[in-house]
Amino acid sequence: MIEDERLIVFDDEHFMKIALRQAERAAEAGEVPVGAVAVRDGQVIGRAWNQVEMLKDATAHAEILVMTQASAAKSDWRLDDVDIYVTKEPCAMCAGAMVNSRVRRVVYGMADPRAGAAGSALDITGFSGMLHRVEVKGGVLEPECKFIMQDFFRRRRLESQTGKTVCQVNNPELGGNGE
Ligand SMILES: [Zn+2]
Repeated sequence: MIEDERLIVFDDEHFMKIALRQAERAAEAGEVPVGAVAVRDGQVIGRAWNQVEMLKDATAHAEILVMTQASAAKSDWRLDDVDIYVTKEPCAMCAGAMVNSRVRRVVYGMADPRAGAAGSALDITGFSGMLHRVEVKGGVLEPECKFIMQDFFRRRRLESQTGKTVCQVNNPELGGNGE
């Protein structure tokens, strides 16, 4: 039995689950449900959900917020030893910020074929003209990440049709409240 927590190696799914909890919080707050965490040396140094509506700020995407937290935690804008986990493929703004921050790796859940900028619609993270390339891994817990997004927009459509608030459906696969 491993007594020392530092010896436990957390995998990508572990951190994506934490990002999913953040996305759930976004949904509860009426924000488009995207959650992100920043991880360094196996430790979470930033966690946030999309807060565009709450902050009335188009740049308040979950990824931007966790990068700001990670830079503060490191006292350095260079995030070359930081991995970002996010439930949806980053947009052009966030992918660009990741390149500028020299993020080591981005791990995302659901791909965004329409506007994803980590290889789906655009490849900003891998563009050869950029000074830094961000390693990309997609599709981690994709069904869960997709579910929370689809459920959010399904409820939104119903609400606009009926004028009534529709209760959030909990994803049984996620379980618990966690973080
Ligand atoms: Zn974004």
